[in-house]
Amino acid sequence: MSDSFLLISHDEAVRIVDEAMDTARQEIPKGAVADYIPELGKGDPEKLGICIYPLEGEKIKAGDCEDRFTMQSISKIFSLCIALELLGPGKVFEKIGAEPSGEAFNSLVELDLNSNKPYNPLINSGAIAVAGMLIEEVTFHDMQIFARELCDDDGIALNHAVYDSEMATCSRNRAIAYLLESKGIIDTDVEDALRFYTKMCSLEANAESLATFANRLANDGVGNRSGKRYLSAETVRIVKTLMLTCGMYDGSGTYAVEVGIPTKSGVGGGLMAVSNNRAGIGVFGPALDKKGNSIAGCRLLKEISNRLHLSLFYNTSFMSAAPKDYSLNEFKQSNES
Ligand code: GLN
Repeated sequence: MSDSFLLISHDEAVRIVDEAMDTARQEIPKGAVADYIPELGKGDPEKLGICIYPLEGEKIKAGDCEDRFTMQSISKIFSLCIALELLGPGKVFEKIGAEPSGEAFNSLVELDLNSNKPYNPLINSGAIAVAGMLIEEVTFHDMQIFARELCDDDGIALNHAVYDSEMATCSRNRAIAYLLESKGIIDTDVEDALRFYTKMCSLEANAESLATFANRLANDGVGNRSGKRYLSAETVRIVKTLMLTCGMYDGSGTYAVEVGIPTKSGVGGGLMAVSNNRAGIGVFGPALDKKGNSIAGCRLLKEISNRLHLSLFYNTSFMSAAPKDYSLNEFKQSNES
């Protein structure tokens, strides 16, 4: 029996995911856990897990999908959603751009030299600017409740050790925050904004809870089983667009070609991927590549995307039925004559 999300049977999909896990594990030795936040350096690089939560059909889980890890930059999606809902896109994009930066996630050069706005809300400068706006509107406690609700996970809580470790070593983010203040982008308390940003990064989730949030984003902000709306369709559209163009930092272009699924990474090893209209996917793999994205997690998503035709740019309703053969010979012959 084929299910409408995967176009193949559940059992076959499970087999594909298991094979993809084996392939992806081979990438682990090429990566390393983040250690610029000392507490993250204690992570086990061998971990790998995935949860796929389709809009229709059963969840698929493999590996360490229930292990908890800090969301890090994946939390930028939560903050952006709330900022768009409470302040509207007009106010948010008055102070923050929507362009890929082509620089590392913690860069401040483009902000200092090229622009008076952070390039986008998914790099540190943009997310710290969002935090500066949000502290006037909500508390961290409100954000934690919101994250629990969106992920359907009451276990989402602050990891105090990671938070303290990052606050003790965040000179670079502090520099970004004060640069934002000097440009008038943060006009609230800079240290409060920095604490809010860092607390959001230190919220713990697991692959399954991220798959649940992603599932709701894949369904335009509505729970696929409950029918409950969590976010407006416009907020979700904007967020998914930014995830595709900027979610993997300066690796976003290559990732879009190879995987083609709007995804957000975090240096805790998490990936949250939104296969539009089809599934939410959460991944955990703390060994990172040079750009700060999960090295085995990206390979896992690449394998699964290719095998299940999850790229946004495939027409899935057509793919199963359409003829596979084609030829360029006619074109070549007419060119020669
Ligand atoms: N808390 C991390 C930082 O600000 C988040 C970075 C990330 O996940 N890419 O450096």
